[in-house]
Amino acid sequence: MKILVLNSGSSSLKYQLIDSHTEEVVAKGLAECIGMSQRCGHIVQQTTLAGKISFDTEMNCHDDAMDQVFALLTDPEKGVVKRIDEIAAVGHRVVHGGEKFVQPTIVTDAVLDGIEKMSQLAPLHNPPNLEGIRACRRLMPGIPQVAVFDTAFHATIPDYAYMYALPYDYYAAFGVRRYGFHGTSHQYVAGIALEMLRQRGIAPETSRIVTCHLGNGCSMAAIQGGRAVDTSMGLTPVEGLVMGTRSGDLDPAILTYLSRRLDAPVSDIDQIINKESGLLGLSGLSSDMRDIEEAAAAGHARAELALAVFCYRIRKYIGAYAAAMGGLDAIVFTAGIGENSPVIRERVCRGLGFLGVDLDDGKNATERGRAVDLAAESSRVRVMLIPTNEERMIARETIRVIAASAIPSPLVIAP
Ligand code: ADP
Repeated sequence: MKILVLNSGSSSLKYQLIDSHTEEVVAKGLAECIGMSQRCGHIVQQTTLAGKISFDTEMNCHDDAMDQVFALLTDPEKGVVKRIDEIAAVGHRVVHGGEKFVQPTIVTDAVLDGIEKMSQLAPLHNPPNLEGIRACRRLMPGIPQVAVFDTAFHATIPDYAYMYALPYDYYAAFGVRRYGFHGTSHQYVAGIALEMLRQRGIAPETSRIVTCHLGNGCSMAAIQGGRAVDTSMGLTPVEGLVMGTRSGDLDPAILTYLSRRLDAPVSDIDQIINKESGLLGLSGLSSDMRDIEEAAAAGHARAELALAVFCYRIRKYIGAYAAAMGGLDAIVFTAGIGENSPVIRERVCRGLGFLGVDLDDGKNATERGRAVDLAAESSRVRVMLIPTNEERMIARETIRVIAASAIPSPLVIAP
């Protein structure tokens, strides 16, 4: 049986078809530039059966895109799905579950309504997620759909860590609090880290882990006893670390100050902190860490500044989270930058010797593409490189939720 995993973004649709037993990726693809008037849509798909195909095509909306993806997957000759019921379930990445959805959830009409209500909190993300779910319900009636929320893993964060010190009414009336994102990724890598720690004699129940998801978006989580106790993103994904184009932490009064100085509405300032800041804003060059590293190495002062601010912020959060958890057993690096940049890992860990962090420079420079401990043997804190796999985690969660439900499914083997 296969699980279709769908990540439906504002103008793109990423998907993977995963074997529920072996976790092999049978097909993966990306439909992009959906609904863009100025650019033609494009689909790339890679399957175990037919290799890679790539073509331009018109896609006015997510419904169109999903029709075409579905036709590709079920194509009588080149498709990897011969009968629709080979797809046991669809797992959807949904960005914001608010306080209502703290677990992956089987999609019903009521759940769709709930996700729609949550769009107030994530106006850019939840609506396209919903379009993806609706398209799959139309194309695959009777096949269970599961929503896996980016916020859910952070639902265990205690109130003193998720509350902002604003008038309480804004929390009660408008849901203003920290939610956190990238939860599926933090959960996936933490699961592997817990196992790696267990092999070194550290029990999961007492473990204290800091996970650093460093991609275009960046966030960290403090994970104590396997449960999230804090995270750096907040009500929205703009809080916390320096990112490709997002500012991360700011003095909130900067927003009104800039609005006054630029004589610009708050929507313009929102655009600045989301799209024009971070590595791009600091360096003036690029939001891509590879460009920043290259320019910094060649002596570009603002690229070096961007690197320094980026790494300092992460180091500061590690210290804060070690204090929050009363100690630290492991730091985990994941996502594009975390998995591929020895320079960033080294700069983050430099100066953390007082916490018991001792990176093995040789391993840090050479290891790539697999879960591995990069700390020196004598290091009290382990430093782990763990490739993330959000699609695999969504497939696992989808199977788990269906198995725990009353829905008859071939995924559930009768006793
Ligand atoms: P997304 O958040 O869009 O999924 P990724 O997890 O793929 O993004 O991460 C993208 C980031 O990873 C980019 O900033 C890119 O420059 C960075 N990256 C990828 N490979 C390297 C590398 N070898 N060295 C430094 N940064 C890298």
